[in-house]
Amino acid sequence: MSRAKASREARPPAFWYREARKGWLRRKAGSVLCCDDVPVAQLAERFGTPLYVYSASTIVDRLRAFDNAFRTIAHSVCYSVKANSALGILRLISGLRCGFDVVSGGELERVLQVDKRAARKVVFSGVGKTKEEMRQALKAKILLFNVESESELWALAEVAATLKRVAPIALRVNPDVAAETHPYISTGLRKHKFGIPISEARSLYAWASGSRHLKVAGISVHIGSQITEVKPFRATMERVAELVQVLRQDGHQIEFVDAGGGLGICYEDSSAPEFSHHVVAYAEAVVRPLRGLKVHLLLEPGRSIVGPAGALLTSVLYKKKNDGRRFLVVDAAMNDLLRPSLYNAYHEIIPTTADSHATTGRENVDVVGPVCETGDFLARDRELPIVNEGDLLAILDAGAYGMSQSSNYNTRPRPAEVLVDGKSVKLIRRRESVTDLLRPESF
Ligand SMILES: *Cc1c(COP(=O)(O)O)cnc(C)c1O
Repeated sequence: MSRAKASREARPPAFWYREARKGWLRRKAGSVLCCDDVPVAQLAERFGTPLYVYSASTIVDRLRAFDNAFRTIAHSVCYSVKANSALGILRLISGLRCGFDVVSGGELERVLQVDKRAARKVVFSGVGKTKEEMRQALKAKILLFNVESESELWALAEVAATLKRVAPIALRVNPDVAAETHPYISTGLRKHKFGIPISEARSLYAWASGSRHLKVAGISVHIGSQITEVKPFRATMERVAELVQVLRQDGHQIEFVDAGGGLGICYEDSSAPEFSHHVVAYAEAVVRPLRGLKVHLLLEPGRSIVGPAGALLTSVLYKKKNDGRRFLVVDAAMNDLLRPSLYNAYHEIIPTTADSHATTGRENVDVVGPVCETGDFLARDRELPIVNEGDLLAILDAGAYGMSQSSNYNTRPRPAEVLVDGKSVKLIRRRESVTDLLRPESF
């Protein structure tokens, strides 16, 4: 059995093949790829390609599984906005009483747009917050600033003083834990730009507690992204738990422990455990070291919530062969989905129709976009069922760090985004036009 087929059956049904009904693509025997209950080919026909398609029910299911796994401890899930910051998705998530983790003033503005009252559940992370962003967040009365350096602490105290406010802070400590992931998204080692070395935390907390405009409220960590083992999370929380005790002995009120995000998903491995089990193992690793400490746990998952809930639909423009290498030139490119080019990331690619009497065979291809870079690829040396020009493909697990990392490189308007819920279909972002792109410019 093909990997694509096996994994479709093993996973929750955000995208799944369904026997084609009479009338719908009746010409072809076999089955069609659906998002929830909607054949994705219908979406492509209606909204064009490339097109991001998300399953609302999958996002809700995964958030519930996440929340449920932590039910033994006081906690709040603060969805990491940078994974997918579409207003339509933030609205869906804020409706589930979640908070948000933001890394810029722009992301905070997105959250406030969907729900003004969500500010009190917002944590603000990031290594380079500007004073203007601090002002904006203080005015909105967010829950927590995760501060990443001594200088930032000074700046925040200064801004809070001019606003006559008190900024609730956690220091983001760097636990010096190695996590096996791509080096660009590993953040928890001493040599990385993130956080404060855990050994220096104590003296900085002492300084912070001396400021009338700062209120020490917690500790935060985030060791990286796409971490599939739970061990580094446990090692991190053991170090954080120790620090909680030391800081409390020093007289600080440590109410919050922010465990960050980073739980990985399975882009390739179809034999991986189901998410609800995986997240339970993760929860156990995070919670056990904190037992008895009476802290409120904050969690910042991004990818694990929205990644598998999204796919990028793309049409095959041309097939070509150069020096024996076969290429599928598709209408999506690195500007739409950067992960393969940036991290050499693997995304499963499947045709949107599956011929049940599979007679067509398979071939090895490079799936590439129209952008003028050799680095513009979505898959390399990939065995796929043979497809034709004009056929539609789905690039799976593209819900996280897909659209949110997209750009207009090559003056390519970005794709539209569609949120599917059961049978209902909502366009949450219209396709950009070239006019949109040129508007801010003058000559
Ligand atoms: C990116 C990020 C997250 C989310 O990471 P995922 O791997 O998407 O879960 C959480 N917290 C911080 C501080 C981040 O930078």
